[in-house]
Amino acid sequence: MELDVKKQTNHRLRIREITKITSETPTIKTFWFEDENDLTFVPGQFVMVWLPGVDEIPMSVSYSESKSKYNNQKAITVASVGEATTKLHELTVGSKIGIRGPYGHGFNIMKADVKRILAVGGGCGSAPLGPLLDSAHSSGKDVLFALGARNKSELLFKDRAMKLGIELDISTDDGSEGYHGFVTDRVDKLLSEPGFDLVVACGPEIMMKKVVELALNNNTNVQVSLERYMKCGVGICDSCTLGGYQVCRDGPVFDGKLLIKLPEFGISKRDPCGRNIDI
Ligand SMILES: Cc1cc2nc3c(=O)[nH]c(=O)nc-3n(C[C@H](O)[C@H](O)[C@H](O)COP(=O)(O)OP(=O)(O)OC[C@H]3O[C@@H](n4cnc5c(N)ncnc54)[C@H](O)[C@@H]3O)c2cc1C
Repeated sequence: MELDVKKQTNHRLRIREITKITSETPTIKTFWFEDENDLTFVPGQFVMVWLPGVDEIPMSVSYSESKSKYNNQKAITVASVGEATTKLHELTVGSKIGIRGPYGHGFNIMKADVKRILAVGGGCGSAPLGPLLDSAHSSGKDVLFALGARNKSELLFKDRAMKLGIELDISTDDGSEGYHGFVTDRVDKLLSEPGFDLVVACGPEIMMKKVVELALNNNTNVQVSLERYMKCGVGICDSCTLGGYQVCRDGPVFDGKLLIKLPEFGISKRDPCGRNIDI
């Protein structure tokens, strides 16, 4: 696929102790753990997180810090939405989780002709965009982060972007901060100005479909990260099938030009039994 980026993975289930927990918003927490020293990942790739006795669920890697040879801290940033994520939120420092991966294809922002990026995050969808902001910043790319949330307390990674000196464009559904309305209204406005070489997005699929349409109408390349129900994470079970692609193996980051041709994009997905359900 065009999006291919050199990948490295580790299928071995690693039992890891949670070393730090940060409250990002009233509903989102970040869980830190120490991982293999030599295991790098591309922003947008994910790990399968095993909660013994509960479930194994996909989570984007949201931070990666190599402070020293023996201290490779990685993190996942989790919204509490159901059984497994609620149990994760109940864990404390010292609790153990199982990790395998990283898996899938991440965002490809490293091409030389990509100089200015519009990153669009909606709600907890900003989780994989956090490391993308770090990586774009350290490689000298110019980023505008269009960040949307229900209200100002749910703006994930606003402070992280500010610390990096990244330009922010904020929208909230209730108007408590920034533009009063959907982040897609802002994307429409921002893309009317020239200069973006690439749009990247993660958030509710309805939002991402709109972002893809806006970017393609503007002749701008666009990559988005999709969520589908995943069991194996490695392309065996086909739970995450989408138009002949497997989101875990071929995605979760896809090129917008491919997605726009798939009738399911923004419309339907599979439930845990494989039935098609509306998004
Ligand atoms: C590649 C990928 C990366 C993700 N990254 C993040 C992240 O960084 N932060 C975050 O908060 N969430 C992320 N998610 C979503 C997260 O996996 C689900 O919210 C989580 O699995 C819900 O589990 P639950 O038991 O708490 O909720 P449930 O009550 O079981 O379900 C709530 C919702 O989550 C979906 N879901 C449940 N189990 C799975 C599963 N095994 N695979 C995919 N979707 C599932 C359901 O279809 C439903 O829409 C990601 C999903 C994917 C596919």
